Amino acid sequence: MQSALIDRALLERALSVLHQPIYLPHCAAAGVDVLLRRDDHLPGGNKFYKLYFNLKEARAAGKDTLLSFGGAHSNHLHALVLACQAEGFNGRVLVRGYPQSPTTHTLQDVSAAGLKVQFVGHGEYRRLCQTQQVPLASDEYLIPEGGANALGEQGASYIGRAVQQQLGGDVRHIVMAAGTGSTLAGVASALEGGTEALGVSVLKGPPGRSLYTGGKGRLPSWKMLWGFCGKGYGRPLTPAMLAFWQEFEYNNSVLIDPIYTLKMLWAVNQLAGLGYWRRGDRIVAVHTGGLQGRRGFTQQPATTISTVPEKTFARIKV
Ligand SMILES: *Cc1c(COP(=O)(O)O)cnc(C)c1O
Repeated sequence: MQSALIDRALLERALSVLHQPIYLPHCAAAGVDVLLRRDDHLPGGNKFYKLYFNLKEARAAGKDTLLSFGGAHSNHLHALVLACQAEGFNGRVLVRGYPQSPTTHTLQDVSAAGLKVQFVGHGEYRRLCQTQQVPLASDEYLIPEGGANALGEQGASYIGRAVQQQLGGDVRHIVMAAGTGSTLAGVASALEGGTEALGVSVLKGPPGRSLYTGGKGRLPSWKMLWGFCGKGYGRPLTPAMLAFWQEFEYNNSVLIDPIYTLKMLWAVNQLAGLGYWRRGDRIVAVHTGGLQGRRGFTQQPATTISTVPEKTFARIKV
């Protein structure tokens, strides 16, 4: 999956991302160092990486319209908007839901940018995602939900590559929120030495899955952790998670989204309390972005801190 040729532009972009020490109470007590990798500063967060080679492929194939899927609050669709605007692609998106449902900030952005929106009922949506059998016009290039294909993984591998170049070999774990797990797989594919990639699933696992069951991947260097998604994907937060969200933002002056990065940091902190990390471990926690999705969330922290607006997709030379 990893190509021998390195894409310099993407590597430079990944190397420009900063790592910032953060305070998590159980980690501090356990003597564990946590650095937050600010991929949220890239427009689209982790989706920036996952779209990168897909855009190149679309261009190489002479396609000028990107077609993809997502929910009404989807970070992936939002990143697709940024990519279309920066790269001059047209877009068509299939949205899970119904035209009569209340609109969302995300869908307003999608429409305002001129992408075509088509609603698809839940059953049909699932079928399309599974089969990828969408009738395509001759100018359309299909990107799966979440950008989760081999090119998406290849892009995500640059996160792992950059962390190792920037911080050297003394990072024991790289932790990130996982939905499809393709960012995780990509990051893991780039790791060498003893560094392990850990995904915190934001989905409820299959029945029987509980706290940190190791996933059996193609690669030995990754693990999926289950049991930290609270009431489930996109569901309201438990009171303890809501309090954690507020305290985290207040203590660190960093905004996080309640769907992904909050769950990941919650897990990192909880695991420290359970003695999962070793004293002296250095952990990189990846802030994968997703702040746009926070706009439609029912709960909000009581105290707000100032924010950096999501930038536009910087032009990528393709
Ligand atoms: C999509 C997304 C993820 C999950 O990425 P996968 O590659 O699907 O596992 C994590 N964090 C944020 C903010 C996302 O938008």
